[in-house]
Amino acid sequence: MPEHAPLRGLVAGAANGAEDARSLWRALGEAGVIERVGWTSKDPDDIARLDDLLSELDGRLPLGLVLSVCVQVALAVPLLATASETSGLAREVLADAVAGRAVVAIAVTEAGLSGSATLDAATAVRSADGSLRLTGGKEWISNARHCDHVMVLARCRPERHITSFCWVLIPAVAPGVTVEPASNRYFGQAGVGHLRFDDVALAEDRVVGQRGRALAEFVRALQRERLAGALWGRALCRRVLVETLDHLRRRPAGPTTLWDNAAIRDRFARCLVAQARLDALCSVFPAGSAARPAAGPAAMVLKAACGETVNRILDECVDLTGADAFRDGGLAGLREEATMFGVAGGATGTMLAGIAEHADDLLLVGS
Ligand SMILES: Cc1cc2nc3c(=O)[nH]c(=O)nc-3n(C[C@H](O)[C@H](O)[C@H](O)COP(=O)(O)OP(=O)(O)OC[C@H]3O[C@@H](n4cnc5c(N)ncnc54)[C@H](O)[C@@H]3O)c2cc1C
Repeated sequence: MPEHAPLRGLVAGAANGAEDARSLWRALGEAGVIERVGWTSKDPDDIARLDDLLSELDGRLPLGLVLSVCVQVALAVPLLATASETSGLAREVLADAVAGRAVVAIAVTEAGLSGSATLDAATAVRSADGSLRLTGGKEWISNARHCDHVMVLARCRPERHITSFCWVLIPAVAPGVTVEPASNRYFGQAGVGHLRFDDVALAEDRVVGQRGRALAEFVRALQRERLAGALWGRALCRRVLVETLDHLRRRPAGPTTLWDNAAIRDRFARCLVAQARLDALCSVFPAGSAARPAAGPAAMVLKAACGETVNRILDECVDLTGADAFRDGGLAGLREEATMFGVAGGATGTMLAGIAEHADDLLLVGS
């Protein structure tokens, strides 16, 4: 713990002054936080630093602001770092992102198509009249409404194959790019939006990274995002459990308090068991392995467990809090938004389908 204290202090300082997602990202960048947790290195301490960042933010800021940071440190920065190996433009945008000067959205989920069917994505880059054009649409994209750049997963070949995709890095204000809010009720300040690309003209250098590698890189980066989501979900559950325990201990019920009721203690204890399971899964996810192909099934297990644990703990804690859960800013509102832990970055049902595919590996059958 002590060696992480300085990072937590820097995050707390940045969070205190932040008014919105852009100013938060800028403050984190200026404090050197993104450079230290942005997964640009292969340092095994990355997981501990990411945990510190997300736990500290979760305790201080609304869910939408934490989401805005989470997708950038866990997805945008690592994907830009990979593209930087072959692209000067990606290197420039990465440097700006890490310094907090640029907000970058990652746009993969296709308009009108299940998030589990990326191979069928229709958003495409094609040559026309001697230039490249991007056409299509992406839905439910974090930071879409306030970002500087969008990194778009685009089809560059018609074949339904993992090698048919490339990354296109464009300014959010490029002619032909439009954005509309995905929701006016949920995830305020995460800037979640639907993007349209209407015949957007592109210079050749806007296709970043190696053509044909984009979908494989995204799948690999998702493993890190799933780990980040689980670390954040764990911090959120722990915070909610601490608040609920405090509420139960203070809530008079006749001569005693609610916490003295055996049935209530039993329900709370079951939440502690669920929390301990998620803790254990996070801690066995091996440091430095998040980018390796073999981490895929482990990341899916972690993601499914996180979605189910968040739902379970928040459901029970809302119930245990009674009417007070429905006060403005109370637990019932948080539960509504936190349901996204079982959707964003891959729905729980999709994770379960993938886990079943790896049943033999997970059971060590034949090893
Ligand atoms: C808050 C938020 C932020 C997001 N941010 C981003 C972002 O920054 N960038 C981005 O690209 N996307 C983003 N997304 C999109 C997100 O990744 C998708 O919503 C997610 O992948 C789920 O896809 P879907 O919404 O199309 O659900 P669907 O795939 O339509 O799923 C609907 C239901 O069907 C089930 N299901 C689907 N496929 C299968 C299967 N094969 N087997 C079994 N069951 C299945 C699911 O479990 C679910 O219950 C965000 C979403 C949210 C809610």
